Amino acid sequence: MRRIDREVTQQSRIDAIIEACDCARLGFCDDNGVYIVPLNFAYLREGGTPVFYFHCAKEGRKLDALAKNANVGFELDTNHAVHSGKDGCDFSFRYQSVIGTGCAALVDDVQEKKEALRRIVWHYSGREAWEFTDAQASSVAVIKLTVSEMACKEHQ
Ligand SMILES: Cc1cc2nc3c(=O)[nH]c(=O)nc-3n(C[C@H](O)[C@H](O)[C@H](O)COP(=O)(O)OP(=O)(O)OC[C@H]3O[C@@H](n4cnc5c(N)ncnc54)[C@H](O)[C@@H]3O)c2cc1C
Repeated sequence: MRRIDREVTQQSRIDAIIEACDCARLGFCDDNGVYIVPLNFAYLREGGTPVFYFHCAKEGRKLDALAKNANVGFELDTNHAVHSGKDGCDFSFRYQSVIGTGCAALVDDVQEKKEALRRIVWHYSGREAWEFTDAQASSVAVIKLTVSEMACKEHQ
């Protein structure tokens, strides 16, 4: 990162920034090139490794792309604020963001799908206790993204 003064390296701060985000953008590669899709998400660490879960319909372009190439990129950002000034060059934009890459895979196990859905709704509701039936879990696709590398930057 060129602006090393803006890099966030403390794991707990990175996790808090991700938790403050409400949208993750997943970048796939398909035959037409790069395909970026905004998605709701859940985030956790598995033995220290960052993991994201997403849910979606069981068909569509992103799943076609995933079937061809499991390597994906991702980006999230939050805490936006415009700082204005007298001159154009005095304007700046405050943000916190995360960019990374990882390996995505469809989750087949119904129990893991239910847990992923519970975590996704938890992320947006703030309430942990949600239940899903096997039929509900089976009616959607769940994508698990295991992060290979990620960087976090903030401009405050
Ligand atoms: C903030 C946010 C959160 C979202 N959260 C979820 C989620 O959790 N789960 C979920 O399934 N979907 C979510 N969506 C919708 C998601 O972005 C996709 O539209 C959806 O998942 C379908 O993707 P697909 O690849 O199957 O598209 P398809 O239905 O196969 O359509 C493919 C084509 O449609 C167009 N397209 C697809 N999505 C979009 C889009 N969002 N905006 C503009 N054009 C588009 C593109 O041209 C693309 O080539 C969210 C959207 C936003 C903006």
